[in-house]
Amino acid sequence: MTEVMENLEQTVLAAARRELFIAGQWGPASDGATFEVFDPATGEPLCSVADASAEDGQRALDAAVEAQKAFARTTPRERSQMLYRTHALLGERADDLALLMTLEAGKPVAEARAEITLAREFVLHFAEEAVRISGNYQQNPNGGGRMLVLRQPVGPAILVTPWNFPMSMGARKVAPAIAAGCTSVVKPAKETPLTMLALAAIFEEAGVPAGVVNVIPTSTSAEVVEPLIRSGKARKLSFTGSTAVGARLLEQASGQVLKTSMELGGNAPFIVFEDADLDNALEGLMLTKMRNAGETCTAANRIYVQRPVMEKFAAKLAERMSGFVLGRGVDEGVTLGPLINKRQQDTVEALVQDAVTRGAKVLVGGSKPDRPGFFFEPTVLADVPADARILHEEIFGPVAPLVAFDDEDEVIALANDTEYGLASYLFTENLRRAVRVAEALDSGMVGLNQGSVSNAGAPFGGTKASGLGREGGPEGINEFLETKFIAMQL
Ligand code: NAD
Repeated sequence: MTEVMENLEQTVLAAARRELFIAGQWGPASDGATFEVFDPATGEPLCSVADASAEDGQRALDAAVEAQKAFARTTPRERSQMLYRTHALLGERADDLALLMTLEAGKPVAEARAEITLAREFVLHFAEEAVRISGNYQQNPNGGGRMLVLRQPVGPAILVTPWNFPMSMGARKVAPAIAAGCTSVVKPAKETPLTMLALAAIFEEAGVPAGVVNVIPTSTSAEVVEPLIRSGKARKLSFTGSTAVGARLLEQASGQVLKTSMELGGNAPFIVFEDADLDNALEGLMLTKMRNAGETCTAANRIYVQRPVMEKFAAKLAERMSGFVLGRGVDEGVTLGPLINKRQQDTVEALVQDAVTRGAKVLVGGSKPDRPGFFFEPTVLADVPADARILHEEIFGPVAPLVAFDDEDEVIALANDTEYGLASYLFTENLRRAVRVAEALDSGMVGLNQGSVSNAGAPFGGTKASGLGREGGPEGINEFLETKFIAMQL
């Protein structure tokens, strides 16, 4: 690493916000506690951050409740302008924000930049949506009175965000909340609090009023979040993370009948038919499999290739996977960063070992490299047997398990044989087959001849155990709005 780069890192870290953001004030935790944030590429601590207690959580929710009434009265145009300013500031600060994100999340700087671009897209989309909230006015069916339907902010929201996309997931929740007129308490993942705090500072600078966005990093999520959900003061819960935690939060939310949005785990099938453009399929696979070292909920988890093209596709894939450069995401030329922590690294290793024990062949990689940090080698597994755990559990790592199939009905059945239903991918040059299979796949999103399903203008979300509700698209703002019917007698 060059000295210039090292200085830049130190400058960005030194300038980073590390305190709680409550009621428009930056400050320490009430008991003065802090926790460490680590660089996953070295395993070394980066800095310490204020560690919110349950009491701080309540303070944050009280601030959100206090700010809710006045914020709901702001005009759509005012809220839209706050988001346009946020969009502009994110653009101006993108270099520093990307570096900060890379330091705590590990992803290569180019990927961090791409994530900021996506976050800006969400902010822009909801700046536009804020002034398009509409209702309905119609005559009673019997011709007498009139029916007026309007949309109002649901109220204070609890937003729990993950570590894999610390900026875009924050933006995808907070921007629609602001657009709709909802205040919020954001609980970022303990692995990546710095990015969300930086985003909060930008919302503040963009003129979002005090108490509208409150951020409480904590090392004790369960102890802090559960009382907030059960308090009866919040009206909305939006969560992105594992299905296990999502299900637990849904249980907690049921007592208050909270409106909930859940973006949970996935186990995406990636289907390559014999008539596919194999080079395009490979590009799509690289995007969905290797972005963020495979730590994405929409990552291809099971790669089904039609038997006549399996050998050719596997060879191309093995060659591409051998070409990654592992390292710290801030270093030039690095194309693959570490996994987020040791637990994630151990999980991926265990899944690969299980598959190999059951008969899978390792074409490339297969283990943890001998270096500090939480890296895993880019890995291709062939002939993965149906009972291997890796085909049934979310991998969240740079591992591509290949399975051969013979016909369309067989692969649709295999693809849908999972409790998850977030994303699926399908590659074919046959239009009829494309439509037939895309419609038959049981998932909230289908990538057709492309390896990305993330688009601010489109509804993102899953079926089955992958979640409830949608983020992005026109649906995204609706998750923060309540429908009111006014029955008018004339
Ligand atoms: P997680 O579900 O534990 O964490 C997600 C968020 O929930 C984080 O902010 C975390 O601090 C918070 N959280 C955890 N337990 C909580 C609780 N009891 N109450 C309130 N908040 C709580 O995910 P993880 O353990 O960091 O990762 C494990 C697996 O989850 C991954 O391997 C992956 O399969 C999945 N995951 C999915 C996504 C996604 O984008 N859908 C994101 C992160 C992780």
